[in-house]
Amino acid sequence: MRLIVQKFGGTSVKDKERIFNVANIITNTYKNGNNVIAVVSAQGDTTDDLIEKANDINPHASKREMDMLLNTGEQISASLLAMAIESLGYPVISLNGHQAGFYTDSNYSKARIKKIDTERMERELDKKRIIIVTGFQGVNRYDDVTTLGRGGSDTSAVAIAAAMKADLCQIYTDVDGVYTADPRLVPSAKKLDEISFDEMLELASCGAQVLHNRSVEMAKKYNVNLEVCSSLEHKPGTKVKEVTKMEKLLIKGVAKDDDVVRIAVVGLPDKPGIAYKIFSLLASKKINVDIILQSIGRDGTKDISFTVPRDSAEMAKEVLESARDILRPNKIEIADNVTKVSIVGAGMQSNPGVAAKMFEALYEANINIKMISTSEIKISVLIDRDQGVKAMNALSEAFINN
Ligand code: ADP
Ligand code: ASP
Ligand code: MG
Repeated sequence: MRLIVQKFGGTSVKDKERIFNVANIITNTYKNGNNVIAVVSAQGDTTDDLIEKANDINPHASKREMDMLLNTGEQISASLLAMAIESLGYPVISLNGHQAGFYTDSNYSKARIKKIDTERMERELDKKRIIIVTGFQGVNRYDDVTTLGRGGSDTSAVAIAAAMKADLCQIYTDVDGVYTADPRLVPSAKKLDEISFDEMLELASCGAQVLHNRSVEMAKKYNVNLEVCSSLEHKPGTKVKEVTKMEKLLIKGVAKDDDVVRIAVVGLPDKPGIAYKIFSLLASKKINVDIILQSIGRDGTKDISFTVPRDSAEMAKEVLESARDILRPNKIEIADNVTKVSIVGAGMQSNPGVAAKMFEALYEANINIKMISTSEIKISVLIDRDQGVKAMNALSEAFINN
Protein backbone atom coordinates (compact mmCIF):
# COMPACT_ATOMS: atom_id res chain seq x y z
CA MET A 1 0.00 0.00 0.00
CA ARG A 2 1.30 3.44 -0.89
CA LEU A 3 1.82 6.11 1.75
CA ILE A 4 1.15 9.67 0.67
CA VAL A 5 1.93 12.70 2.84
CA GLN A 6 -0.15 15.76 1.97
CA LYS A 7 0.49 19.20 3.45
CA PHE A 8 -2.07 22.00 3.39
CA GLY A 9 -1.09 25.62 4.04
CA GLY A 10 -3.07 28.29 5.86
CA THR A 11 -5.14 29.57 2.94
CA SER A 12 -6.07 26.00 2.02
CA VAL A 13 -7.81 25.51 5.40
CA LYS A 14 -8.89 29.08 6.10
CA ASP A 15 -12.63 28.44 6.55
CA LYS A 16 -15.29 25.72 6.66
CA GLU A 17 -15.59 25.45 2.89
CA ARG A 18 -11.82 25.11 2.42
CA ILE A 19 -11.60 22.57 5.25
CA PHE A 20 -14.16 20.38 3.48
CA ASN A 21 -12.32 20.88 0.20
CA VAL A 22 -9.16 19.55 1.88
CA ALA A 23 -11.13 16.75 3.57
CA ASN A 24 -12.27 15.68 0.09
CA ILE A 25 -8.73 15.67 -1.33
CA ILE A 26 -7.57 13.52 1.60
CA THR A 27 -10.48 11.07 1.56
CA ASN A 28 -10.26 10.66 -2.23
CA THR A 29 -6.61 9.73 -1.86
CA TYR A 30 -7.54 7.30 0.92
CA LYS A 31 -10.42 5.86 -1.09
CA ASN A 32 -7.99 5.11 -3.91
CA GLY A 33 -6.22 2.67 -1.64
CA ASN A 34 -3.49 4.84 -0.12
CA ASN A 35 -2.45 5.48 3.44
CA VAL A 36 -2.60 9.20 4.09
CA ILE A 37 -0.86 11.42 6.61
CA ALA A 38 -1.91 15.06 6.23
CA VAL A 39 -0.03 17.97 7.77
CA VAL A 40 -1.84 21.25 8.31
CA SER A 41 -0.91 24.85 8.98
CA ALA A 42 -2.90 27.25 11.11
CA GLN A 43 -6.00 28.66 9.40
CA GLY A 44 -5.52 31.79 7.25
CA ASP A 45 -3.64 34.53 9.11
CA THR A 46 -3.99 32.88 12.52
CA THR A 47 -0.24 32.79 13.22
CA ASP A 48 0.15 36.49 12.36
CA ASP A 49 -2.87 37.35 14.49
CA LEU A 50 -1.49 35.42 17.45
CA ILE A 51 1.86 37.21 17.13
CA GLU A 52 0.04 40.54 17.09
CA LYS A 53 -1.92 39.58 20.18
CA ALA A 54 1.28 38.65 21.99
CA ASN A 55 3.01 41.89 20.97
CA ASP A 56 0.11 43.84 22.35
CA ILE A 57 0.57 42.24 25.75
CA ASN A 58 4.34 41.94 25.84
CA PRO A 59 6.50 42.87 22.83
CA HIS A 60 9.46 41.16 24.52
CA ALA A 61 7.73 37.89 25.36
CA SER A 62 10.06 34.93 25.75
CA LYS A 63 10.36 32.62 22.77
CA ARG A 64 9.24 29.74 24.94
CA GLU A 65 5.90 31.42 25.62
CA MET A 66 5.59 32.46 21.96
CA ASP A 67 5.92 28.82 20.93
CA MET A 68 3.35 27.82 23.52
CA LEU A 69 0.97 30.34 21.93
CA LEU A 70 1.70 29.64 18.26
CA ASN A 71 1.25 25.90 18.76
CA THR A 72 -2.45 26.50 19.27
CA GLY A 73 -3.03 27.65 15.67
CA GLU A 74 -2.11 24.33 14.09
CA GLN A 75 -4.00 22.43 16.78
CA ILE A 76 -7.22 24.19 15.81
CA SER A 77 -6.94 23.39 12.11
CA ALA A 78 -5.85 19.77 12.70
CA SER A 79 -8.78 18.99 14.98
CA LEU A 80 -11.32 20.80 12.77
CA LEU A 81 -10.06 18.95 9.71
CA ALA A 82 -10.30 15.64 11.57
CA MET A 83 -13.88 16.50 12.56
CA ALA A 84 -14.73 17.25 8.92
CA ILE A 85 -13.29 13.89 7.85
CA GLU A 86 -15.18 12.13 10.66
CA SER A 87 -18.38 13.69 9.37
CA LEU A 88 -17.67 12.22 5.93
CA GLY A 89 -17.55 8.81 7.56
CA TYR A 90 -13.84 7.99 7.40
CA PRO A 91 -11.60 6.74 10.24
CA VAL A 92 -9.31 9.59 11.26
CA ILE A 93 -7.23 10.89 14.14
CA SER A 94 -5.45 14.19 14.67
CA LEU A 95 -2.10 14.30 16.47
CA ASN A 96 -0.10 17.26 17.72
CA GLY A 97 3.67 17.47 17.33
CA HIS A 98 4.33 15.67 20.60
CA GLN A 99 1.86 12.86 19.88
CA ALA A 100 3.28 12.43 16.38
CA GLY A 101 6.76 11.97 17.87
CA PHE A 102 8.47 15.17 16.70
CA TYR A 103 11.50 15.65 18.94
CA THR A 104 13.34 18.92 18.44
CA ASP A 105 16.17 20.87 20.02
CA SER A 106 15.31 23.72 22.39
CA ASN A 107 15.90 26.60 20.01
CA TYR A 108 12.41 28.03 20.58
CA SER A 109 10.83 29.68 17.53
CA LYS A 110 13.37 28.07 15.17
CA ALA A 111 13.72 24.56 16.54
CA ARG A 112 15.35 21.81 14.49
CA ILE A 113 13.93 18.33 14.32
CA LYS A 114 16.31 15.86 16.00
CA LYS A 115 14.30 12.72 15.49
CA ILE A 116 10.81 11.49 14.74
CA ASP A 117 9.53 8.60 16.75
CA THR A 118 7.21 7.03 14.17
CA GLU A 119 5.69 4.39 16.43
CA ARG A 120 2.40 6.18 17.09
CA MET A 121 1.88 7.09 13.44
CA GLU A 122 2.62 3.51 12.38
CA ARG A 123 0.13 2.20 14.91
CA GLU A 124 -2.58 4.53 13.63
CA LEU A 125 -1.90 3.55 10.02
CA ASP A 126 -2.15 -0.12 11.03
CA LYS A 127 -5.63 0.72 12.31
CA LYS A 128 -6.38 2.07 8.82
CA ARG A 129 -6.81 5.59 10.10
CA ILE A 130 -6.14 8.78 8.20
CA ILE A 131 -3.71 10.82 10.30
CA ILE A 132 -3.78 14.59 10.57
CA VAL A 133 -0.63 16.09 12.09
CA THR A 134 -0.18 19.68 13.26
CA GLY A 135 2.49 21.35 11.15
CA PHE A 136 5.46 23.37 12.39
CA GLN A 137 5.63 21.98 15.90
CA GLY A 138 7.48 19.56 18.11
CA VAL A 139 8.55 18.95 21.66
CA ASN A 140 11.97 19.28 23.29
CA ARG A 141 13.62 17.17 25.96
CA TYR A 142 12.00 19.20 28.71
CA ASP A 143 8.56 18.29 27.33
CA ASP A 144 8.05 21.89 26.22
CA VAL A 145 6.43 22.59 22.89
CA THR A 146 8.56 24.20 20.18
CA THR A 147 7.97 25.57 16.68
CA LEU A 148 10.10 25.10 13.58
CA GLY A 149 10.07 28.73 12.36
CA ARG A 150 7.69 30.57 10.03
CA GLY A 151 6.62 28.42 7.12
CA GLY A 152 7.83 25.32 8.97
CA SER A 153 4.84 23.11 8.21
CA ASP A 154 6.45 22.21 4.87
CA THR A 155 9.37 20.84 6.86
CA SER A 156 7.05 18.83 9.13
CA ALA A 157 5.53 17.21 6.05
CA VAL A 158 8.83 16.38 4.39
CA ALA A 159 10.21 15.09 7.70
CA ILE A 160 7.27 12.71 8.06
CA ALA A 161 7.68 11.60 4.44
CA ALA A 162 11.37 10.88 5.09
CA ALA A 163 10.85 9.14 8.44
CA MET A 164 7.90 7.03 7.25
CA LYS A 165 9.50 6.38 3.85
CA ALA A 166 6.43 7.73 2.08
CA ASP A 167 6.01 7.20 -1.64
CA LEU A 168 5.08 10.82 -2.24
CA CYS A 169 4.97 14.14 -0.40
CA GLN A 170 2.56 16.70 -1.82
CA ILE A 171 2.66 20.31 -0.70
CA TYR A 172 -0.78 21.74 -1.46
CA THR A 173 -0.87 25.53 -1.50
CA ASP A 174 -2.61 28.56 -3.03
CA VAL A 175 -0.60 28.55 -6.27
CA ASP A 176 -0.45 25.61 -8.68
CA GLY A 177 3.29 25.03 -8.46
CA VAL A 178 6.69 26.67 -8.33
CA TYR A 179 7.00 29.60 -10.72
CA THR A 180 10.04 31.38 -12.09
CA ALA A 181 9.14 34.18 -9.66
CA ASP A 182 6.36 34.90 -7.20
CA PRO A 183 3.39 35.11 -9.59
CA ARG A 184 1.77 37.69 -7.34
CA LEU A 185 4.66 40.09 -7.89
CA VAL A 186 5.68 39.10 -11.42
CA PRO A 187 2.53 38.49 -13.47
CA SER A 188 4.51 37.11 -16.43
CA ALA A 189 6.22 34.42 -14.29
CA LYS A 190 6.08 30.92 -15.76
CA LYS A 191 5.19 27.71 -13.99
CA LEU A 192 7.96 25.11 -13.87
CA ASP A 193 7.15 21.43 -14.45
CA GLU A 194 10.18 20.50 -12.43
CA ILE A 195 13.05 22.04 -10.53
CA SER A 196 16.15 20.50 -8.93
CA PHE A 197 16.57 20.32 -5.15
CA ASP A 198 19.61 22.61 -5.37
CA GLU A 199 17.84 25.28 -7.37
CA MET A 200 14.73 25.10 -5.18
CA LEU A 201 16.88 25.33 -2.07
CA GLU A 202 18.57 28.50 -3.36
CA LEU A 203 15.23 30.01 -4.38
CA ALA A 204 13.66 29.21 -1.00
CA SER A 205 16.70 30.56 0.84
CA CYS A 206 16.52 33.73 -1.27
CA GLY A 207 12.96 34.46 -0.22
CA ALA A 208 10.61 32.32 -2.37
CA GLN A 209 8.37 31.24 0.51
CA VAL A 210 6.48 28.67 -1.56
CA LEU A 211 8.62 26.06 0.23
CA HIS A 212 10.37 26.37 3.59
CA ASN A 213 14.08 26.10 2.82
CA ARG A 214 14.69 23.40 5.43
CA SER A 215 12.01 21.25 3.84
CA VAL A 216 13.98 21.29 0.60
CA GLU A 217 17.23 20.55 2.42
CA MET A 218 15.59 17.55 4.03
CA ALA A 219 13.91 16.37 0.83
CA LYS A 220 17.31 16.39 -0.88
CA LYS A 221 19.01 14.57 1.97
CA TYR A 222 16.43 11.76 2.11
CA ASN A 223 15.51 11.88 -1.58
CA VAL A 224 11.84 12.52 -0.87
CA ASN A 225 9.52 12.42 -3.87
CA LEU A 226 8.26 16.01 -3.56
CA GLU A 227 5.58 17.88 -5.44
CA VAL A 228 4.05 21.37 -5.06
CA CYS A 229 0.45 21.67 -6.25
CA SER A 230 -2.77 23.61 -5.82
CA SER A 231 -5.43 22.70 -3.27
CA LEU A 232 -8.02 24.48 -5.41
CA GLU A 233 -7.31 23.37 -8.96
CA HIS A 234 -6.87 19.77 -9.94
CA LYS A 235 -3.84 19.86 -12.24
CA PRO A 236 -0.21 18.75 -12.24
CA GLY A 237 2.07 20.84 -10.05
CA THR A 238 5.85 21.14 -9.91
CA LYS A 239 8.11 18.17 -9.17
CA VAL A 240 11.13 18.95 -7.01
CA LYS A 241 13.80 16.33 -7.62
CA GLU A 242 17.50 15.53 -7.77
CA VAL A 243 18.03 15.79 -11.51
CA THR A 244 15.84 17.62 -13.95
CA LYS A 245 15.75 17.47 -17.70
CA MET A 246 17.84 19.97 -19.63
CA GLU A 247 16.02 23.20 -20.18
CA LYS A 248 16.62 26.16 -22.36
CA LEU A 249 16.32 28.47 -19.39
CA LEU A 250 19.62 29.90 -18.25
CA ILE A 251 18.09 30.74 -14.91
CA LYS A 252 15.22 29.01 -13.14
CA GLY A 253 13.96 31.78 -10.97
CA VAL A 254 14.05 35.23 -9.48
CA ALA A 255 13.40 35.78 -5.78
CA LYS A 256 13.21 38.70 -3.40
CA ASP A 257 13.95 38.77 0.30
CA ASP A 258 12.78 41.81 2.27
CA ASP A 259 13.89 40.28 5.52
CA VAL A 260 17.39 41.78 5.32
CA VAL A 261 19.07 44.73 6.95
CA ARG A 262 22.44 46.20 6.02
CA ILE A 263 24.87 47.12 8.76
CA ALA A 264 27.80 49.35 7.88
CA VAL A 265 30.74 49.68 10.25
CA VAL A 266 32.45 52.80 9.00
CA GLY A 267 35.97 54.10 9.62
CA LEU A 268 37.60 51.00 11.06
CA PRO A 269 41.39 50.84 11.53
CA ASP A 270 42.88 49.29 8.37
CA LYS A 271 44.86 46.56 10.09
CA PRO A 272 44.78 42.74 10.33
CA GLY A 273 42.26 41.05 12.62
CA ILE A 274 39.42 43.56 12.35
CA ALA A 275 37.16 41.43 10.10
CA TYR A 276 37.95 38.43 12.29
CA LYS A 277 36.89 40.34 15.41
CA ILE A 278 33.63 41.61 13.88
CA PHE A 279 32.48 38.30 12.49
CA SER A 280 33.49 36.26 15.50
CA LEU A 281 31.46 38.62 17.70
CA LEU A 282 28.45 38.09 15.41
CA ALA A 283 29.02 34.33 15.35
CA SER A 284 29.14 34.23 19.15
CA LYS A 285 25.55 35.50 19.10
CA LYS A 286 24.60 32.99 16.38
CA ILE A 287 23.85 35.82 13.93
CA ASN A 288 23.75 34.71 10.32
CA VAL A 289 25.67 37.03 8.05
CA ASP A 290 24.93 37.01 4.35
CA ILE A 291 26.50 39.49 1.89
CA ILE A 292 29.81 41.02 3.06
CA LEU A 293 31.59 43.99 1.53
CA GLN A 294 34.89 45.55 2.61
CA SER A 295 36.07 48.83 1.14
CA ILE A 296 39.63 49.48 0.05
CA GLY A 297 41.65 50.92 2.91
CA ARG A 298 42.31 54.65 2.63
CA ASP A 299 44.12 56.96 5.07
CA GLY A 300 44.51 54.03 7.45
CA THR A 301 40.78 53.30 7.67
CA LYS A 302 38.30 50.99 5.96
CA ASP A 303 34.57 50.20 6.08
CA ILE A 304 32.97 46.78 6.43
CA SER A 305 29.30 46.28 5.63
CA PHE A 306 27.20 43.15 5.73
CA THR A 307 23.60 42.02 5.77
CA VAL A 308 21.79 40.13 8.52
CA PRO A 309 18.18 38.97 8.95
CA ARG A 310 15.95 41.77 10.25
CA ASP A 311 15.35 40.19 13.64
CA SER A 312 19.11 40.00 14.28
CA ALA A 313 19.87 43.64 13.47
CA GLU A 314 19.46 45.09 16.97
CA MET A 315 21.52 42.35 18.55
CA ALA A 316 24.22 42.75 15.89
CA LYS A 317 24.43 46.47 16.58
CA GLU A 318 24.57 45.90 20.33
CA VAL A 319 27.37 43.38 20.18
CA LEU A 320 29.42 45.63 17.88
CA GLU A 321 28.78 48.68 20.08
CA SER A 322 29.97 46.69 23.07
CA ALA A 323 33.32 46.20 21.31
CA ARG A 324 33.78 49.87 20.38
CA ASP A 325 37.00 50.10 22.38
CA ILE A 326 38.63 47.41 20.29
CA LEU A 327 37.09 48.15 16.88
CA ARG A 328 37.12 51.95 17.19
CA PRO A 329 34.76 52.63 14.27
CA ASN A 330 33.59 56.15 13.41
CA LYS A 331 30.03 54.94 13.25
CA ILE A 332 27.80 51.88 12.99
CA GLU A 333 24.82 52.38 10.67
CA ILE A 334 21.75 50.22 10.12
CA ALA A 335 19.86 50.54 6.84
CA ASP A 336 16.59 48.65 6.67
CA ASN A 337 15.13 50.15 3.51
CA VAL A 338 16.88 47.51 1.43
CA THR A 339 15.94 44.24 -0.23
CA LYS A 340 17.90 41.37 -1.72
CA VAL A 341 16.99 40.24 -5.21
CA SER A 342 18.51 37.04 -6.55
CA ILE A 343 18.59 35.02 -9.74
CA VAL A 344 19.04 31.26 -9.43
CA GLY A 345 19.86 28.60 -11.98
CA ALA A 346 22.25 25.69 -12.49
CA GLY A 347 22.62 26.89 -16.09
CA MET A 348 24.78 29.84 -15.04
CA GLN A 349 27.65 27.50 -14.09
CA SER A 350 28.45 26.77 -17.70
CA ASN A 351 27.41 30.09 -19.23
CA PRO A 352 29.60 33.14 -18.82
CA GLY A 353 28.02 36.56 -18.94
CA VAL A 354 25.05 35.91 -16.66
CA ALA A 355 26.20 38.53 -14.15
CA ALA A 356 26.73 41.10 -16.92
CA LYS A 357 23.27 40.43 -18.26
CA MET A 358 21.77 40.81 -14.79
CA PHE A 359 23.54 44.11 -14.15
CA GLU A 360 22.56 45.37 -17.61
CA ALA A 361 18.87 44.62 -16.93
CA LEU A 362 19.05 46.46 -13.62
CA TYR A 363 20.90 49.38 -15.21
CA GLU A 364 18.25 49.65 -17.91
CA ALA A 365 15.59 49.74 -15.21
CA ASN A 366 17.61 52.50 -13.53
CA ILE A 367 18.19 50.47 -10.40
CA ASN A 368 21.30 51.13 -8.34
CA ILE A 369 23.14 48.14 -6.87
CA LYS A 370 24.48 48.51 -3.33
CA MET A 371 26.06 45.11 -2.79
CA ILE A 372 26.62 41.96 -4.83
CA SER A 373 27.25 38.36 -3.90
CA THR A 374 27.57 35.25 -6.00
CA SER A 375 27.65 31.51 -5.53
CA GLU A 376 27.79 28.64 -8.02
CA ILE A 377 24.15 28.84 -9.01
CA LYS A 378 23.03 32.21 -7.67
CA ILE A 379 23.72 35.93 -7.99
CA SER A 380 22.22 38.31 -5.43
CA VAL A 381 22.15 42.08 -5.32
CA LEU A 382 21.13 44.41 -2.53
CA ILE A 383 19.02 47.35 -3.73
CA ASP A 384 16.54 49.90 -2.38
CA ARG A 385 13.46 48.16 -0.98
CA ASP A 386 11.01 50.19 -3.05
CA GLN A 387 12.65 48.95 -6.25
CA GLY A 388 12.40 45.25 -5.40
CA VAL A 389 9.34 44.38 -7.45
CA LYS A 390 10.54 46.44 -10.41
CA ALA A 391 13.88 44.60 -10.28
CA MET A 392 12.18 41.20 -10.21
CA ASN A 393 10.12 42.08 -13.26
CA ALA A 394 13.13 43.49 -15.13
CA LEU A 395 15.17 40.34 -14.43
CA SER A 396 12.29 38.12 -15.35
CA GLU A 397 11.92 39.98 -18.62
CA ALA A 398 15.65 39.69 -19.40
CA PHE A 399 16.14 36.04 -18.52
CA ILE A 400 12.84 34.23 -18.75
CA ASN A 401 10.58 35.93 -21.22
CA ASN A 402 12.98 36.09 -24.12
P1 ADP B 1 1.09 28.12 2.40
O1 ADP B 1 0.25 28.87 3.36
O2 ADP B 1 0.32 27.18 1.55
O3 ADP B 1 2.28 27.49 3.04
P2 ADP B 1 2.78 30.26 1.42
O4 ADP B 1 2.18 31.62 1.45
O5 ADP B 1 3.76 29.91 2.46
O6 ADP B 1 1.59 29.21 1.36
O7 ADP B 1 3.47 30.00 -0.01
C1 ADP B 1 2.76 30.19 -1.19
C2 ADP B 1 3.05 31.58 -1.74
O8 ADP B 1 4.41 31.66 -2.12
C3 ADP B 1 2.32 31.91 -3.03
O9 ADP B 1 1.04 32.41 -2.75
C4 ADP B 1 3.23 32.93 -3.70
O10 ADP B 1 2.77 34.25 -3.52
C5 ADP B 1 4.55 32.77 -2.97
N1 ADP B 1 5.71 32.53 -3.85
C6 ADP B 1 6.92 33.15 -3.73
N2 ADP B 1 7.75 32.75 -4.67
C7 ADP B 1 7.10 31.83 -5.42
C8 ADP B 1 7.46 31.04 -6.56
N3 ADP B 1 8.69 31.11 -7.11
N4 ADP B 1 6.53 30.21 -7.06
C9 ADP B 1 5.31 30.11 -6.52
N5 ADP B 1 4.91 30.85 -5.45
C10 ADP B 1 5.79 31.70 -4.90
N1 ASP C 1 1.54 28.60 10.73
C1 ASP C 1 2.96 28.77 10.60
C2 ASP C 1 3.26 30.08 9.88
O1 ASP C 1 2.34 30.82 9.55
C3 ASP C 1 3.62 27.60 9.93
C4 ASP C 1 3.26 27.37 8.48
O2 ASP C 1 2.24 27.88 7.99
O3 ASP C 1 4.00 26.65 7.81
O4 ASP C 1 4.40 30.40 9.70
MG1 MG D 1 4.20 28.21 3.59
